Amino acid sequence: MEQHVSSVSPHPIPGWAVAVADALGPGPHVVVTGISPSGNIHVGNLREVLVGEAVVNALKAKGEAVRFVFHADTIDPLRKIAPGVPKDFERYLGHSLSRVPDPEGCHVSYAEHFLGPFEEALRRMAVDLELLRSHELYEGGFYAEVTREALEHTGELREILQEISGRKMPEHWSPYLPRAGSGQLTGARILEHLPEERKVVFVDEDGWEEVADYSKGEGKLGWRVELAARWKALRATFEPFGKDHTSRGGSTDTADRIAGEVFRYPAPGRYEYEWIQIKGRGAMSSSKGVVLLPNDLLAIMPPAALRRMVLGRDPGRALDLDLAEGFPRFMDEYKADAEEKPVPFAHLVTVAQTVGGDANKAAEMLRRGGYAEAASDPERLSRDLIYARNWAEEWTPESYGFGVREELPQETASLDVHQRRYLGAIAGRLEEGMDGDAVQDLLYRTAVEFGLKPKAAFGAVYMALLGKKSGPKAGPFVAGLATDFVRGRFLGVSEDTTPGEPTG
Ligand SMILES: [Zn+2]
Repeated sequence: MEQHVSSVSPHPIPGWAVAVADALGPGPHVVVTGISPSGNIHVGNLREVLVGEAVVNALKAKGEAVRFVFHADTIDPLRKIAPGVPKDFERYLGHSLSRVPDPEGCHVSYAEHFLGPFEEALRRMAVDLELLRSHELYEGGFYAEVTREALEHTGELREILQEISGRKMPEHWSPYLPRAGSGQLTGARILEHLPEERKVVFVDEDGWEEVADYSKGEGKLGWRVELAARWKALRATFEPFGKDHTSRGGSTDTADRIAGEVFRYPAPGRYEYEWIQIKGRGAMSSSKGVVLLPNDLLAIMPPAALRRMVLGRDPGRALDLDLAEGFPRFMDEYKADAEEKPVPFAHLVTVAQTVGGDANKAAEMLRRGGYAEAASDPERLSRDLIYARNWAEEWTPESYGFGVREELPQETASLDVHQRRYLGAIAGRLEEGMDGDAVQDLLYRTAVEFGLKPKAAFGAVYMALLGKKSGPKAGPFVAGLATDFVRGRFLGVSEDTTPGEPTG
């Protein structure tokens, strides 16, 4: 069955999320996830949002009121140029991501350039959240009160940071980073805090005295302090973190203490999720350029499948995404749960590669192969064909069939005389109107009769049609093709005695 969208819980709620929700206790709840849009926002980052979403759904299922927030750290300073960004962008290092231009000129800022595609993926996946941009929150005064508090507790904050990080903080350290006239957020020295005016007086890098109004976004809190401040300002009750933040002495260690001792706000519930690797490419990392974007994956599978893939059985464990050899099996497992009579993914790939974009021919091929149900839903069929085609173009392993060959494949030269005779016999026995099961049965029975091992027999079938040693399940595959075409091809192979010279 297709999963039906309901207002309570559109997706199955995993056990780990129910356990998290139970441990959080009564609400109201605010689930926060976040990311700094300093480079491509990849599938590993999507894992954080989907962990949040699963916990939101578990809380809603318990009848709790929940607000789900995605906090985009758009005011953060640019720390490193993302791969592919022109080198001259180094002049913007230290500037807010929301105030750095888009390297490709298609969005209003550097931040939006990377946030845009991620936001689009979240919309396509119908993730129901509030996207907050930190530069807008600061500019609107949302963080003014916690900033004032932080500035008034500068000494305590410095001590906590020193204790936990083991590093001595600079003498003029401040929890607040005012923006200098140059656009720089770093390197200033604060001289005075004027709490009534919500301003700080500071000396910039070049020695000029300036003033910043912290109720108008003329600066920001440093990351570790901001994390705790944002919990309080948003009334956060839960936030998932990747393991880079939760290591000993890491940002959650300091934020936990700052929240409790300075902001008098209890640290929100937490879930530690593990990273996602791409098989053969390593852990995903925007700064190293190893990225897979959510939209890349939405090109080869529906949103519900992507949810299932990214969360995995347990997001607390590392995930090795296999998008090549292992992908058809993943899709078949997903379809087995999501559809009444799913067409095996490998079969769809062959159909897609054989008929191109012709949905009518694809439907005909599926009907013949015994997948009448799939053939009768043209909308889903054309969608599935697009997924299959996109996957084949981007991820197909070398061993995979690439669609039925129009001409007799030269690779059939490798077939021996027994395999050729076998194909000749099949050509004589194949009848118009046989369904996938009937053809499968014929292929198998004839192999037994000819004393051929199934691998040799089916291998001959794939070789004659695809020029490959393997392919989708043979019965439905062969049944899906025009009987005359298959007969002609198999006869051609059985009569071809000049290896390497196709006879058409
Ligand atoms: Zn752009």
